[in-house]
Amino acid sequence: MANLHTNPSYLPRPLPPQLAGLAELALDVRWNWNHAADRLWESIDPELWNATGNAWLILESVSHRRLEKLAEDETFRSELERLLATREKYLASSSWFSETHASDELNGVAYLSMEFGLGEALPIYSGGLGILAGDHLKTASDLGVPLIGVGLLYQQGYFRQSLDATGEQIASYPYNDPTLLPVMPLRDVEGEWLRVSIDLPGRELHLRAWQVQAGRNRLYLLDSNHPLNGPADRGITAELYGGSVEMRLQQELVLGIGGWRLLRALAIQCDVLHLNEGHPAFAVLERAADFMRRSGTDFSTALRATAAGNIFTSHTPVDAAFDRFPKELIAQYLEPLTRSLGVELEELLALGRINGPDAHEPFNMAYLALRCSARINGVSQLHGEVSRSIFQPLFPGRPRHEIPIGHVTNGVHMPSWDSAHADRLWTNACGKERWLGAQEGLEAGFRAVDDETLWDFRGRQRQDLIGHLRQRLVRQLRARGQGPALAESLIERLDPNCLTIGFARRFATYKRPDLLLHDPQRLERLLNDSERPVQLVIAGKAHPKDRLGQKMVRRWSDFMHHSRAQGRMVFVEDYAIGLATELVQGVDLWLNTPLRPWEASGTSGMKVLVNGGLNISELDGWWAEAYRPEAGWSIGDGREHDSDPAWDAHEAEQLYSLLENEVVPAFYNRNEQGIPTAWVQRLRESMAHLTPTFSANRMVRQYTEDYYLPAAAEWRRRVDNNGALAEELEAWRHSIKKHWPRLHFGGGGVENDGEHYLFRLQIFLDEIDPDFVAAQLYAVPRSEDEQSVWPLERGQPLPGTVNGFTFHARVPADRPAEHYTPRLVPHHPHARVPLESPLILWRHSSLSAP
Ligand SMILES: *Cc1c(COP(=O)(O)O)cnc(C)c1O
Repeated sequence: MANLHTNPSYLPRPLPPQLAGLAELALDVRWNWNHAADRLWESIDPELWNATGNAWLILESVSHRRLEKLAEDETFRSELERLLATREKYLASSSWFSETHASDELNGVAYLSMEFGLGEALPIYSGGLGILAGDHLKTASDLGVPLIGVGLLYQQGYFRQSLDATGEQIASYPYNDPTLLPVMPLRDVEGEWLRVSIDLPGRELHLRAWQVQAGRNRLYLLDSNHPLNGPADRGITAELYGGSVEMRLQQELVLGIGGWRLLRALAIQCDVLHLNEGHPAFAVLERAADFMRRSGTDFSTALRATAAGNIFTSHTPVDAAFDRFPKELIAQYLEPLTRSLGVELEELLALGRINGPDAHEPFNMAYLALRCSARINGVSQLHGEVSRSIFQPLFPGRPRHEIPIGHVTNGVHMPSWDSAHADRLWTNACGKERWLGAQEGLEAGFRAVDDETLWDFRGRQRQDLIGHLRQRLVRQLRARGQGPALAESLIERLDPNCLTIGFARRFATYKRPDLLLHDPQRLERLLNDSERPVQLVIAGKAHPKDRLGQKMVRRWSDFMHHSRAQGRMVFVEDYAIGLATELVQGVDLWLNTPLRPWEASGTSGMKVLVNGGLNISELDGWWAEAYRPEAGWSIGDGREHDSDPAWDAHEAEQLYSLLENEVVPAFYNRNEQGIPTAWVQRLRESMAHLTPTFSANRMVRQYTEDYYLPAAAEWRRRVDNNGALAEELEAWRHSIKKHWPRLHFGGGGVENDGEHYLFRLQIFLDEIDPDFVAAQLYAVPRSEDEQSVWPLERGQPLPGTVNGFTFHARVPADRPAEHYTPRLVPHHPHARVPLESPLILWRHSSLSAP
C-alpha cells in the first residue's frame, strides 16, 4: 500500500482552504451516507442533494462563488468542523475488534461481491445481495474488523425504472460517469494507473481500478473500460445482471481472478477470502495459483492449503438459481488458466460439477465455491436447512443434517437505516456508541422509553414520509408529462395520521407483490374505511426480461390510477436506496409475502425495526426465526406449498383478515391521551428485542468469531512450511480415494445388558492406514439435538487378515438395536470431513439384538 496514493489533483476543483475537509467527507461513504451530514450537503445545494444523495457530485458542480460564500459562513464552517472532528474521533477510537482480539489473529478478509449497495450515490447494486454487502462493509468499519471489499464498477449499473402513462415499465441505463461518483482512481506513485489484467481466450483484458472509502475500510472496484481493450471487452462491466451468459462469465472472471490479482498488486495480504454468493468463486483458483507460485507446491496442494481460509456464503434458496455455464464455454475460458497452473482442464471442470464424466453437465459456480471453501453458510436458520438439501447431491449417502453448512442470519447496518428522529431516540435511551460494540444492555435500555415518547416519534416519522412521497409523486408525474392536477388528486389524500403500510422490493414472482391485489374490492374497502383508513405505498423494479413481474407493476399502477381507493395507494417509481430509506423510516407496517422458502433471508423488514415499524410477513427467511406474536404478525403456516394458486388465495384471505381484525384495530384503538397502547407495546417489543438481533453488528461479530478467526488460524497452519500440512492432507485424500472401494464390513453381533447394547463387528480396511478411517454407529436423531453418531472403537487385528479388525461400541438401549447402522467415514485430525472427503460406506444390513 505504501507506494500508492490517491492523486489529489483528482479533486474536482481547488476548495477554499477553510473547506478543504469537504472532499474528505464527501468521499467517505460510511460517514457521508448517514443523516449526520445531511444538513451540511443540503445547505450547499438542496435540490441536487435531495435528488441524488451524492455529496461528491455537489462538490463537483457547486459554483466557485457559492463555495467562497460558504467559506465565509461561520455556521457552515463550524458544522463542517464538528463533522470532521466526529469522523476523526471515530477513525482514531479503539474498536470492538481491537479490544477483543489480537491484531495478528486476522490480517485481512477479502470480501468479494458482484454488487455493493453503499448508498444511492454509488449505483452498483440491484437489490438485497448488494445492500447486504454494503452494510457488511460499513459494519466492519464500525467494529474495526479488517475487511476489504472487492467489486465491479459498472458503467451503467442496474437499470433505472420509470412507468409510462399506461403503467408499462421503462428501463433506462444512465451512464455512471466515474468522475461524478465518490470513487478515486488507483494510481501508483508515478501517477500511472494501477495495472491489473486477466487472460481471456486469445487476449489480455486490461482493468482499471478504483477505490471507495467506507470509514476505516476500503472497497476496491474494477472495470474493463480501458482504452487498450477492444470495444466489446470495454463493455464487459457495463451492466449489472444484463448481457449474455458469456458476458456474465467474463464479469465473474474479472471479479474473481482480477479481484484477487488487484489485492496482490496492492500488496494486501488477506488470510481470509469471503465469497458473497457464488459469483466471485474464481478467486479461489487465483488464490491457489498465487500460493502455488510462491511455495512451489502443485496446484491441488495449493488448493488444499488456501481453501482453509475460504468462506462461502450462499444466498440462493433454489438450485435452479445458481450461475451455471455450459461446458464448452467454460472450457474455452478456463483454458488459459490450465496452462498457467499446469493442470488438466478436467481437473478444474470437476470442481464445478457433480458428475465429472457427464459430458453435458454445466459448470456450477456454487459447487466451485463450496468445494474450495472450508466454511459454508446460509443466511438464515431456515436457509441453512434449505441449503443443506440443495447441496446434498455433493455428499452422496450423507444424512441431510450432516451436510456441512451452517447459517449466519443477515442483519442491517442500523446507523445507515435509522432516521434522524430514531437516532435521537436511541441515543437518549442507549447512548451514542450503541452500534459500535457488543450491544450489551441495548434491549433493557430501550425498554425504558415511555409510550408517549414512542408514539410521538412514530408520528414524526410518518409525517416525514408523507412529505417525501408528495415530492416524489409530483416529480414522477411531471417526468411523464402529466399536469399538476393529476398529481394533486393523487397526493391530496395522503394523510400523516393514517395507518401506513409499505411494500417495496424487487418485483420477482416469488415475492408475490400482487398478493394484496387478490381481491381488489376488499382492498379498496380496507383502504377507504372512513373511520379507520389505511394507506399503502408500493415500489419495486421488475427485471427487464421478467414479463410477469412487469405485469404486476402495471396492476399496481392501474390500481393507483383507476381504483375507488385512489389517493390511498401510491406506486413510487425507481426503488433504490434513497427511497428505501424514506419508506422504512416512515411506514407503520412493512409487508412481506414471499413464497416460502424462496426468501433466503430478506433484509428490508429488518430496516424498519430501528425506526419503529412493525412487520407482517410470511414465515420465511429471517422472519421464520424472528417472529413472535408480541412483536409483529405472521402469515402462512410455516410450511412449503410450492407455487399453488389455491394456497396463494388462502394466504391472501389470511392477510386481509389479519389486517381487518387485528392490525387496523390495534392501530386505531386509542386511550384517553390518544395513544394506541397495544400497538405501542408491540413496537417497543419489536424495537427493543429484534433491532439488536437483526443488526449487522451482530452479524459481523458472528462472522468474525465463528468464521473469519478460525479460518485464518487454519489457513496459517496449512500454509506454514510451504504447505507441509496441506501436502499431508492431499496424500491422505489420495490414499482414501484409492482404497475406499475395497473397504468392507464383515460379520458381527449385538448384546444387550438392559441399559446398553454392546456392538461388535469386523471391518476390513484394505491397505489404508487404520487411523485414516472412523468407524461409527449412526442412528437417526429423534429430536434436533439428540446424539446421532457413536464411535466404534478399534480392537484387536483379526488374525490371518490384512488390516482386518474387530470394532466395538456401547450405546444406549432406549431404541431397537436395528436403529443403529454401522458406517465408515474418512478421518484426519486436521481435515474437514465430509467437505474434503465426502466418501461414506454404510453397512447394508444393521445388526440386531438376540
Ligand atoms: C433492503 C433493500 C433490498 C432488499 O430487500 P428484501 O427485503 O431483501 O427484498 C432491495 N432493494 C433495496 C433498495 C433495499 O434497500
